[in-house]
This record gives sequence, C-alpha cells and structure tokens, in this order.
Amino acid sequence: MAYQSINPNDGKLLKSFEHMSSSRLDEALAAAEKCFQTWKHRSYADRAAILKKAAALLHAHVDDFARLETLEMGKRITEARGEVKFSADILAYYAEHAESFLAPTPLHPRTGEAHMESSPMGVLFCVEPWNFPYYQLARVAGPQLMAGNVLVVKHAGCVPQCAIAFEKLMLDAGAPVGAYTNVLISYEQSDGVIDDPRVKGVALTGSVSAGRSVAARAGQNLKKSTMELGGSDAFIVLDDADLDMTIPWAVWGRMFNAGQTCCAAKRFIVLDAVADEFLARFKNALEALKPGDPMDEKTTLGPLSTEAALLQLLAQVDAAVKGGARLLMGGKRIPRPGWFMQPTILTDIAPGNPAFRDEFFGPVASFFRVKTEDDAIALANDSDFGLAGSVWTQDEARGLRVASRVDTGMMFVNNIDWTDAELPFGGIKHSGYGRELGRMGIQEFVNKKLVRSGAVAAPT
Ligand code: NAP
Repeated sequence: MAYQSINPNDGKLLKSFEHMSSSRLDEALAAAEKCFQTWKHRSYADRAAILKKAAALLHAHVDDFARLETLEMGKRITEARGEVKFSADILAYYAEHAESFLAPTPLHPRTGEAHMESSPMGVLFCVEPWNFPYYQLARVAGPQLMAGNVLVVKHAGCVPQCAIAFEKLMLDAGAPVGAYTNVLISYEQSDGVIDDPRVKGVALTGSVSAGRSVAARAGQNLKKSTMELGGSDAFIVLDDADLDMTIPWAVWGRMFNAGQTCCAAKRFIVLDAVADEFLARFKNALEALKPGDPMDEKTTLGPLSTEAALLQLLAQVDAAVKGGARLLMGGKRIPRPGWFMQPTILTDIAPGNPAFRDEFFGPVASFFRVKTEDDAIALANDSDFGLAGSVWTQDEARGLRVASRVDTGMMFVNNIDWTDAELPFGGIKHSGYGRELGRMGIQEFVNKKLVRSGAVAAPT
C-alpha cells in the first residue's frame, strides 16, 4: 500500500491509502488550472479572509491536529501543539503582509518612468516531508496562495492523514476547489505532474536525493524550482561560552522532534578549553531523557517516524563505528515496541569516515574537538551541506564575526531560534536553493515584471 499511516509508538497500522488513479490526478490538475483563472483575480483581502479563517480553525482545533500528527509520525504532543499554532501564525502572517510584499516597486530610469510588478505564475507543485506535517504545508500555502498561485501538493507517504486534514482545513476555511489540492501519488506520477504544462513551478522540501531527482525534472522542463534539502549544522562552542546556557540548547537543538529536523544541531564543534566539560554535561543531559508514548506530556524522548528511518540511522551509526568512530553513548534500538532509538554520541570521526559528511536524521550527535576558532570555522565549512549553524560565546561581537565566516543560509548566535514567519529560511550547497518564509518566500513564484512608460522618440 502506497500511503500508510502507522503509529510509530507501537508499529500498528492506522490506515492506508491507494495512489490516485491517473484520471483523478488529471481532474485535480484541471481543477487547479481552472481555479487559478479566477483565484489570481481575487483581491488580497478576499484571499486573506480565507487564510485568516484557516489560521483561526487551526487555533480552535489545536489538539485534534496535534494528536493526529503525534499518532502518525510520533512527534511529542507538546511539540505537535506548538507546530499547529505556528502553522496558523504563518498563514496569518501572509494574510496580513502579502499585499505590501507584492506591491509594485518604483524604479528610477534615466528617462521616463518604470516599476516592477508581481503577478502569480499559476499552478505550483509542492513535494513535502513528514517531519513537520503542517508547518511544511503552511510554509508554501501561506505565501503562495496569497500571491495568487494555486497548489497541488504531494505530501510524504507516512503522513496521509495529516495531508488530508490540511486540505480539508483549506476547504473548510472557504478556499475554492482547486486552490489547494492534496494528491496521493507515486514518484512516477510526480514526474508526470512536473512535466504537465499546466504546472508552472515546483517546490520541494526533503532529502538531497529527492531534490536531485525533482530539480532535474523541473530543469528539463525549464520550470522554476526551490529546494529545501538536508543539513548537517555545526554547533560551534567557543572557549568563552556560558555552558549553563549552551547545554540545554545543545540538547534541544539535537533532540527536538526526536532529532528529525533539517536544521538540527548535528555536528558539535567544541574548543579544547571547554570540550571535556561540554561533553560530560551534554552526555548526562541526553542520558536523562525518558522514552515513552509521545502522546504523554511527560515523555521526553519520542520515537522516530518510521521503522525504515530507525533502521537507516542504526546502520549509519554502525558504519561510523566500523569506520573508526568511537561510540560514547547509545547507538542501539530501545527494546520496546515502536521505533525508538537511544540518544547517541559519536566522537573521533575522521574525515574519511562516512559519518563525517552524512546527515544523521535522528538522535545522533557527532562531537568534534578543535584547538582554535579558525579550526572550528574550517571544520564547520568542510561540509557538503550549508543549511544553518550556531555559535556559542559570551562575546556577541565575536559570535557575529564567526557567524559571518560560516558558509550557510542561516546562522544563530547564542540561540537556535530557527524559524519565524517573518524570517527567510533556506540553505546553500547541497542544502538547496531558494527561500521560504519572510518577505523573500513570497517572491519565489511570482513573475517580476518590468513596466517602463513615457513616450520617447525612436532612435534614428
Ligand atoms: P524524502 O525521502 O526526500 O521525502 C520528502 C518528500 O519527497 C516526500 O514527500 C517523498 O515522498 C518525496 N520524494 C522523495 N523522492 C521523490 C522523488 N524521486 N520524486 C517525487 N517525490 C519524492 O525526505 P525525508 O527523508 O522524508 O525527509 C527528511 C529530509 O528532508 C532530511 O534530509 C531533512 O533534512 C530534509 N528537510 C529539509 C528541510 C528544509 O527546509 N531545508 C525541512 C525539513 C526536512 P515519499 O514520502 O512518498 O517517499
């Protein structure tokens, strides 16, 4: 069965869904294209009313939405509630600001007058991951619907119920049929959607391999795409860091969402002077986490999303150890039902070890000891990824200098307050291209058209 909703807490199948037939998929694309013809002409106020209603519905039913994602992908219930509220904030943010973000921009040519105007491109195809089942959808739905585009969305195979719930949310909020359509489809069908001339742009959030495949297909069709891919973010602890503040962030940064966050702290790069103390305290804090039912508010360590994800992570840890890394703690499946893994720390990871370059998408921290600030920056930059990173120091000016020298799309100093509706999100290198959220996110799929006016005699 193509789309399966399985409870990661006990491995029980909740529901399964077939792929859509090709004729139903074609109807969905036709409905999207038809909807675009009217949606693009609706006023910002009209579109905003629908998104504000969707935000209000999310707030009114936080628990229902949160429980569904906890059931389907194992996110701890308190984190799930936070995600639902934040998704509502994103929708409300674009409802409020889209019109000013897309207002015509005056230009100042030497002669005549000119301005840039923004118009929607049409039907966009979005491919989204399971790790934030609603937030990822809000990140595209908020800006793109407000820009006047319409969306056809392929969500991940393990969260079909969340995917369907979000589509229903949009319809309940008053979105016309075709404005936001969830499609349960295979990779082959996804290729067909990218090829379809009715589709004008493609946005993917997911792994590097998915990005390569979908971006290549979009490229063949000369369609604009954005790619929000993986990361292996450095958490740089300088010798003057306040460890009382840094350690809780290190734990949160690695363990939030059971470690399944693109911009999670994954490589802990610590200066010699504080390395021993950091490592001992970090290890103690990870050991204190208690695995349990993610529906229980007291649980501090939830399961991974799927058994396949757990097995892949265990295999990556084994390969790291075979490659010479030292397993300081964890590394094993937790002996209980469901897809639980012990919090894990790897040290002594040499450059030739696969763990040096790969992304660990779960509760596995890689620890590196370095001598100087320059060594820390060089190591942080020795990565195929370039999503985000953080610097920890009591000297904020020093932190900002280090942040400027790390090659990523986002850097944080003395916090990893990763995402807010008003801040752009995205990376460079294998972490992808383009930005979601903030003022930039709404500019990705609009035609920026130059209009120059003023009667000028033709050159002779
Ligand atoms: P994934 O396997 O790439 O899946 C993401 C989405 O892409 C799913 O909907 C998946 O469908 C689909 N997909 C995969 N290959 C495809 C193909 N060839 N054609 C069409 N669709 C395809 O990623 P994941 O492992 O579930 O998610 C975790 C990854 O996403 C991590 O690398 C993480 O860092 C990254 N991520 C990045 C961001 C960001 O903003 N930069 C945010 C969150 C996650 P199926 O589920 O049906 O396979």
